[in-house]
Amino acid sequence: MTDSFDYVLVGGGLQSALVALVLLRRRPGIRVALVEKCQKIGGNHLWSFHADDVPAGAEDVVAPLCVARWTGFDVAFPGLRRTFDSPYASVDSERLHTVVVEAFAAAPGHHLALGVEAVSIGAHEVHLADGRVLRGEVVVDARGPDGADFTGALGFQKFVGLELALARPHGLPRPMLMDATVPQTDGLRFFYVLPLAADRVLVEDTYFSSTPVLAVDDVRACVLEYASQAGFAVAEVIREEVGCLPLPLSPTVAASSDGPLVAGYRGGFFHPTTGYSFPVALRLALHLASVPPSEARGPLFARLLDAHATQLRFAGLLNRLLFSVTPAPHRRDVMERFHRLPAATIRRFYALATTRADRLRVFLGRPPRGVSVRAALAEVLSA
Ligand SMILES: Cc1cc2nc3c(=O)[nH]c(=O)nc-3n(C[C@H](O)[C@H](O)[C@H](O)COP(=O)(O)OP(=O)(O)OC[C@H]3O[C@@H](n4cnc5c(N)ncnc54)[C@H](O)[C@@H]3O)c2cc1C
Repeated sequence: MTDSFDYVLVGGGLQSALVALVLLRRRPGIRVALVEKCQKIGGNHLWSFHADDVPAGAEDVVAPLCVARWTGFDVAFPGLRRTFDSPYASVDSERLHTVVVEAFAAAPGHHLALGVEAVSIGAHEVHLADGRVLRGEVVVDARGPDGADFTGALGFQKFVGLELALARPHGLPRPMLMDATVPQTDGLRFFYVLPLAADRVLVEDTYFSSTPVLAVDDVRACVLEYASQAGFAVAEVIREEVGCLPLPLSPTVAASSDGPLVAGYRGGFFHPTTGYSFPVALRLALHLASVPPSEARGPLFARLLDAHATQLRFAGLLNRLLFSVTPAPHRRDVMERFHRLPAATIRRFYALATTRADRLRVFLGRPPRGVSVRAALAEVLSA
């Protein structure tokens, strides 16, 4: 059986879900198919993002997805504690799944295929494991980072996060995005604490490491120890998430024009320094909804890629400074120094929207301890 659509989205993770939701809302006349090999959209995730990164026109899509929102966040280093008055929010897989399923159910003519794998993905044709063929004017390959070819040197952001039900309220006013006051055992290490409800927290032990090796049992024990030291009365571990995100030192976008449009983490639509992809995935979704399918890879797409490439070059340079030039025990000093910068610069950095002035500002002043000026300069000049 062959069926034809304007868009065929392969991989029902964050990227395809955002593209589908934006298209269904903004372009009701076009037909969308979404194929996911698992029975649910979005896997087992909690995606957090800086809520300022959501363009005003996309609030209607993002707001129904959010399971928690805060008005600010903290960071902590040995020589710096700082609160940022900048909103932060989280979306979870359960909510994403529900919202996507409801959106497809409410819009006849579209097709949501769950529990079926795409076995071959071409520029205009997707073959499914059950024998069906879906044709699309635009095929988007958003199968996630697993199995993708990230060429060149890599760093890794790896973590184990536990969502904890507490016997009594934690009393935290806002998230702690980086508590880097802990021992630095494998590159930059910090704990990430999200107060999801008065009696529920996500605690994550995160490493910016040169290797992907992660001793999950040991790190899980570290999370529970941190929770205990923080005074959290843990009643139950509700959920666990484990990640090892490749952070390319010379990131690029997969922009070939003769195959499918490779999107999401797989296509380079993520922040190479933080591994976050929510704002970039949303930007791509908004672009696709702003033009007819025939223009999906037209001049406006080229402009989006150009702007993204500038940000990728800068983030790649920072990754090289962090992973290649800075000895592992000193990576924390680099991050501490970075978090002393003006709040607006930091915000634009996380949003992958730095200005030229931001980029200069990051490199002004003395390099942090342990960083060779000569090696750092060589990287900057080669960028
Ligand atoms: C544990 C974890 C936590 C993260 N937290 C954050 C965060 O807080 N904020 C943030 O911005 N980023 C976060 N990220 C990074 C990034 O946003 C995620 O990796 C994001 O899910 C990437 O979106 P994606 O759509 O590219 O890929 P995914 O969300 O991984 O989706 C890919 C989908 O494709 C499906 N698939 C693969 N092959 C096929 C096939 N052949 N046929 C059909 N379906 C297929 C998979 O089952 C999967 O559902 C996190 C990553 C991880 C791993």
